[in-house]
Order: sequence, then C-alpha cells, then structure tokens
Amino acid sequence: MRTAYADVLLASTGERGVLCDFYGEAAAEIYRDLVQAGEGGPEVRAIAARVRPGSGPVLELAAGMGRLTFPFLELGWEMTALELAPAVVTAFRDRLAAATADVRDRCTVVQGDMSDFALGKRFGTVVISAGSLNVLDRSRRPGLYASVRDHLEPGGKLLFGVPKPPPAKPEPEPLERRQEFTGRSGRRYVLHARNIPAEETQEITIHYADVTADPLLVCTHRIWHIGVEQAMEELTLAGFEVTAPSSFGSIEGSSDDMVLVEAVAREITEGAE
Ligand code: SAM
Repeated sequence: MRTAYADVLLASTGERGVLCDFYGEAAAEIYRDLVQAGEGGPEVRAIAARVRPGSGPVLELAAGMGRLTFPFLELGWEMTALELAPAVVTAFRDRLAAATADVRDRCTVVQGDMSDFALGKRFGTVVISAGSLNVLDRSRRPGLYASVRDHLEPGGKLLFGVPKPPPAKPEPEPLERRQEFTGRSGRRYVLHARNIPAEETQEITIHYADVTADPLLVCTHRIWHIGVEQAMEELTLAGFEVTAPSSFGSIEGSSDDMVLVEAVAREITEGAE
C-alpha cells in the first residue's frame, strides 16, 4: 500500500527506493530486526494471570514471530499460533525449529486469516497481543469474533490488549509523528505515523534512517483505531460477556498504558435468537 509519506520519500530516491508491505517477503529482514525478543514480559504476565491452570490449549491469533507465543510455551502451555503473512510464518517456523523438542511438540503454527478461520479444534483460551486487533477494520472484526466463538470451549476466554485512551491534553495530538529507533542488528530506522481520524486509521511507514541506502526499502502498513469502549461494545453485540478489564504496561517498568479485555462467549440457549 502507498502512504503519503512513502510517496514523498520514494519521489526523491529514484530507482533505489522500493515500496514494500511491512509484513511481506521483501521486508522480512526488517521485521526480524525490529521484533525484539523478550519485550512481551508485562503482557505475558497479565495474560498468564487470567488463564486458569488446566483450561487446555491456547490459540494465539496474529502471532507474528511469537513475541508472546514463546514465553507462553515456556510456561508449559500447548499453543496454536495463527498468522496471516507467509513471510512472518516462515520466520516463526525458523524460530520454532531452533527450540527444544518439548517446545516444538507443544506448538502448532497455522497460516490463516483471524477474521475467518476454521481449525477444527476448540481452545480454553484465545489470545491476541496488544495492537493486533488493530490490523482489522470495522467490517472484518465481526468475522473475528464469530471465528473465536466457534473455537472456544464452553466457558473459554478471549483475552486481548487495547491501548488506554491517552489523558486529555489542552492541545490536540499532532496528526503526524516521526521517531528514530535501533534494530537488533544496530541498524537505525525511522518510523513515521500519520493519523487519518475520518477513516479511523493510522498510516505507518518504516525505512532505514540512512536514506542513501541502496536499495532503500520503504515499508508501509495501516492500522485501525479501536478503543476499549468500542471493543467491549462490539464483543457484547457478538455474543460475549465482557468480564473484567484489567491493565498492564506495554514496556517493562512503564505505567499501565494498556487494558486487557477479557470476554467469555454467552451460552447459546435453544430457541433464543
Ligand atoms: N503478536 C505479534 C507480536 O506481538 O509481536 C505480532 C503483532 S503485529 C502488531 C500484527 C501481526 O498480525 C502481524 O504479524 C501481521 O502479519 C498479522 N496479521 C495481519 N492481519 C492478519 C489477519 N487478518 N490474520 C492474522 N494475522 C494477521
């Protein structure tokens, strides 16, 4: 996909500039470089505290390279990891191949779309990492909720993180934000985010900070904003009982900036609509 920022950058880089999907094959190296191992600590602990011991296998949707899945496997859980992007699934499988036989035996990796999947199996818990619900627009989220319902054991839980609304400020938030950061390799990157409130989306562009690189990969993707209240409303409409939102920090040591939503599918009673 194109973003306004990528268009400007690509216009100045000529043939060196290569537009690619952040989760696609061409950007796989960059994705691996940016996904930091072990950064899921607070989220893993918040989710683990809500999973009843002995509640059975756990399904993680939009599992990425397993930032949360591997720590869950370390807890001894039996996991199924579902991920859409083939390049990311390959990266996940490479990581799993390097794990111990015991871990490999407890993890199934599936390439699939979380807004429409059928695994032929039910789970005690379905988890979605913070920020991953945001890859689906409004029209695809009902498919997610229906697929999750079809895969939960009776009484099973859906758990996912959503950012807390930021505290109100006198000045409106800027629509665009640019920040630099370092990948695992030491390489520097730029992340540019542009909010488009009318479309409930944010366009994201990531590229090497050294814009003289050849090729200069310019990776893009888009996320959709969804707040806690809206997520809870959608779940209720989709036949879930939202039980107990709690909070956690997105980074070790940070204040609690994320809400963990917990939802249980309402029993479907015979004769009810
Ligand atoms: N859970 C991982 C983590 O916490 O590091 C990855 C999170 S990343 C924000 C979102 C992931 O969702 C990406 O790996 C992307 O390929 C995947 N994704 C996007 N659309 C999807 C879909 N419809 N179904 C399943 N996965 C999807």
